[in-house]
Amino acid sequence: MSAIDDLPPLRDVLRTHDLIPKKSLGQNFLLDLNLTARIARAGGRLAGVTVVEVGPGPGGLTRALLAEGAARVVAIEKDGRAIAALNEIAARYPGRLEIVEGDALETDMARLAAGDGPARIIANLPYNVATPLLTGWVGAAQWPPFWDGLTLMFQREVAERIVAGPGDDAYGRLGVLCGWRCEAKIAFDVGPQAFTPPPKVTSSVVRLTPRPDPLPCSVKALETVTQAAFGQRRKMLRQSLKSLGDAAALLDAAGLEPTRRAEEIPVAGFVALANAWEAARAASA
Ligand code: SAM
Repeated sequence: MSAIDDLPPLRDVLRTHDLIPKKSLGQNFLLDLNLTARIARAGGRLAGVTVVEVGPGPGGLTRALLAEGAARVVAIEKDGRAIAALNEIAARYPGRLEIVEGDALETDMARLAAGDGPARIIANLPYNVATPLLTGWVGAAQWPPFWDGLTLMFQREVAERIVAGPGDDAYGRLGVLCGWRCEAKIAFDVGPQAFTPPPKVTSSVVRLTPRPDPLPCSVKALETVTQAAFGQRRKMLRQSLKSLGDAAALLDAAGLEPTRRAEEIPVAGFVALANAWEAARAASA
């Protein structure tokens, strides 16, 4: 019996339901309910909150979210083999766990999370789709978003890119997008041995809080200019931005020195560049 509920230990759940981890689904399970409780708590108090969880698997984090008091958990799982195990958790917490079998990349999470109270996304993400899911949430058309926070497990290397700023080796497109719309912090690291099976690398739990008023800019324009700038990150901007048209004019309009490099430019600089690029496009249309 575990400390947080009276459901069977997760090792027994894996055995009972024959849940042999599949690499193709990024299945590295967390079986320590004290660790999953720590992840559940990393995003703040859960009372009254609807949590969207991507990839509940055998349900270690799901159980922690419910035991920590989430009003409702909507859990989206692609692997049909996990549904029976999740149904046992739903029976233990009547009316509080909604299980959705499907692909999170194709799921309308805002609709599933709609209802009373704030919504939050908390997940030990499958690594193969972690970055597209994150850019979908942070780059959403609707802002402020439907969620008030993201608490997500990534490979440490991806976590470093999310929280990176100018001058950091890991600074790039992901750091600009996340820094523009969110405050992002690494909450803590989790070693490979915490997972079944252990991955090759260390993981980190990242917490992102949406900024209520990010600098005005279109997501598409920001993506376009950061793609060009970081595509040749060590070159001067006057060179790396040539694919966008008149690089000198764009840099002048954005108030950026043409001799600077992408890795030195703060988020506000990229926003200015994105807005200059959009204005130039509108003028030439
Ligand atoms: N939350 C569980 C835990 O912490 O032990 C499992 C985490 S495991 C890293 C990732 C989970 O995401 C697996 O259960 C996997 O089947 C599921 N998954 C993989 N791709 C998915 C997708 N596109 N949509 C929804 N779930 C997915």
